[in-house]
Amino acid sequence: MHTYLITGGAGFIGSHLAESLLADGHTVLALDDLSTGSLENVKTFRDHPRFELVIDSVMNVAVTSGLVDRADYIVHLAAVVGVQRVLDSAIRTIHTIAGGADIVLELATQKNKVVFIASTSEVYGKSADLPLSEDGDLLLGATNKGRWSYACSKAINEYLALAYYRERQLPVVVARHFNTVGPRQSARYGMVLPRFIEQAVAGRPITIYGDGMQQRCFCYVADVIWAIKRLITRPEHYGKVFNVGSSEEISILQLARLVKEMTQSDSEIVFVPYDVAYDDGFEDMRRRIPDLRRIHNAIGYQPRVGLVKIIEKIMEHHYASA
Ligand code: UDP
Repeated sequence: MHTYLITGGAGFIGSHLAESLLADGHTVLALDDLSTGSLENVKTFRDHPRFELVIDSVMNVAVTSGLVDRADYIVHLAAVVGVQRVLDSAIRTIHTIAGGADIVLELATQKNKVVFIASTSEVYGKSADLPLSEDGDLLLGATNKGRWSYACSKAINEYLALAYYRERQLPVVVARHFNTVGPRQSARYGMVLPRFIEQAVAGRPITIYGDGMQQRCFCYVADVIWAIKRLITRPEHYGKVFNVGSSEEISILQLARLVKEMTQSDSEIVFVPYDVAYDDGFEDMRRRIPDLRRIHNAIGYQPRVGLVKIIEKIMEHHYASA
């Protein structure tokens, strides 16, 4: 059995990973500043004897260093999340994302630990080279479009992780997550599926940004956890970047209709222009499908939970905690 440090351990993905590692018999140290993570997310295992939550920022080097000392594996998930938060606070986004990984990678190298770095499908930017494969080009927008600060900071994380692997022999693996969804994901930070479900259940208008013809592939959080656990523990994956997601595509308009139907909601579906929803000149990507061949060949990854089942699970959780 091992000790895992999860930065962002009280967040949406972090809390599911913590729960799963505890069930496997491991010890989990969670570091979270509760900026978007919450005590609510960890409440079912907060008192578990093998779980410890430290409420602090990964930017606090002394605290992070002490936790890295005690861990065998470090899963670095802490970040600023949500398109709106990124637009509202670019300085914090860049500092936390670029700086946070820098601290984790340096400490892990000094202390001989294994690291998983969470990146994002956002790094592909506007690339239309579908399906998006790990060795493909990244196509980011101009620096005056705030959205890209997130992608660019995460791309820096990747460069840094790969450089630590090459130059300092750090065992590190990078995963690019594509629209992960599931219970505990908050509607507060703008992600479309929890928002639509919350709007539908409350009978408020379901807000589609743009024309709703943009498409996404939604992946269930348990499938992502399955992948993280296998990628971090096998040395043959170190020094590599993997897409993690689903390739089942749906348009945002179809998603709104599906949510409305499954929640039996009377909500109206409304269209909100991007410049009203976000900023003037906001750029969105039309389609984003991962090429999953690399991760499939590496660990036999295949997403198991489809969208209808995902929505059922989120609804169960919504009603259970309402
Ligand atoms: N979106 C929407 N209505 C909302 C929130 C988001 O139509 O209330 C759209 C958003 O513009 C994007 C898609 O849903 O095209 C997915 O957004 P999300 O923020 O969940 O993830 P992204 O794929 O942008 O990282």
